[in-house]
Amino acid sequence: MTVQPTTTREIVLASRPEGAPTGANFALVERELPELAEGQVLVRNTWMSVDPYMRGRMDDRPSYIPPFQVGEALEGSAVGEVIASRASGIAVGTSVSHFAGWREHVVLDAEAVTPIDPELAAPHHYLGALGTTGLTAYAALTDVAPVRPGDTVFISAAAGAVGSVAGQIAKALGASRVIGSAGGPAKTQLLLEEFGFDAAIDYRAGDLAGQLAAAAPDGIDVYLDSVGGEHLRVAVDAIRPSGRIALVGAISGYNGATGEAGPDLYRAATNEVTLRGMLVNSYFPIFGEYIAKAAAWLADGTLRTRETVYEGLDQAPAAFLGVLSGANTGKMLVRL
Ligand code: NAP
Repeated sequence: MTVQPTTTREIVLASRPEGAPTGANFALVERELPELAEGQVLVRNTWMSVDPYMRGRMDDRPSYIPPFQVGEALEGSAVGEVIASRASGIAVGTSVSHFAGWREHVVLDAEAVTPIDPELAAPHHYLGALGTTGLTAYAALTDVAPVRPGDTVFISAAAGAVGSVAGQIAKALGASRVIGSAGGPAKTQLLLEEFGFDAAIDYRAGDLAGQLAAAAPDGIDVYLDSVGGEHLRVAVDAIRPSGRIALVGAISGYNGATGEAGPDLYRAATNEVTLRGMLVNSYFPIFGEYIAKAAAWLADGTLRTRETVYEGLDQAPAAFLGVLSGANTGKMLVRL
């Protein structure tokens, strides 16, 4: 019989950052696990996600999701294995996804876990291409800023988790030209050689507007914005009449003001451009449908993924700091 743990290790918010976070904002602590009550499961987490939006939760301000609390464990998407169960219908050994990452074990109500099918795809994919990452890319390009056959599409943070999936989905939707921007030559090379982009821009090399004009001389029809600031300004200047922009993220400003000039929204107005914000949570009703579609794309090679993996819970803060500064290619994950 397996001996069940009575304690676990978790990462708590030690202090709130001012500007860019550092390792000192996190602490690793050991906590007692509660007794398993009727209707609950004990999960051993195997993978956890670190995501840029978590930076916003480190600040104490109102948002669509409550701030992390100092002294409390952080949370976020994770997958794991049920190692004890008092919930009917969830057997020991079931692989599940849930929202109690940043810890090695967790006791959860049955309603808080979603069984995943490890036969359909390896569990870590449920945090990336088959998780909210992939769903974000899919929803952005099918609903928020729909791609039409023949479109020229521009994707920012293109070598990252959402961006790398988005470029491939844009192609699958019939875009004739897909352009990605990323930081550094290794990432732009990967966009062309691994993820099927037609052109790649290294924004760190400067002259973003000139590089985009060279890659898309007739302008762009769709832009997926993960960055804000200069990227959004340049995209609005390059967008054709009736263009569509999905406001997915604005990572250039997550640590505070950047001094980058914002977009010319009057130009967006006179060109009848649609700029639409999105939150992936609104698309949870189509999650199952998306997973089935994306799992088939993964299996037949339509969708290729990369992961950057940090090992062990104590590396989770470093992984999170890394996703903010571009240390990742594809999805940033922590293996627990
Ligand atoms: P990711 O792209 O895998 O990682 C973030 C990437 O952003 C880094 O790898 C880095 O790549 C790039 N970056 C960092 N600072 C930058 C800057 N100043 N200018 C340009 N690029 C910069 O992360 P993700 O999870 O896929 O998220 C991507 C974006 O989507 C984020 O803005 C996130 O908040 C947003 N998002 C929104 C939703 C929603 O529901 N609206 C859901 C998921 C994600 P480089 O090395 O290329 O700089």
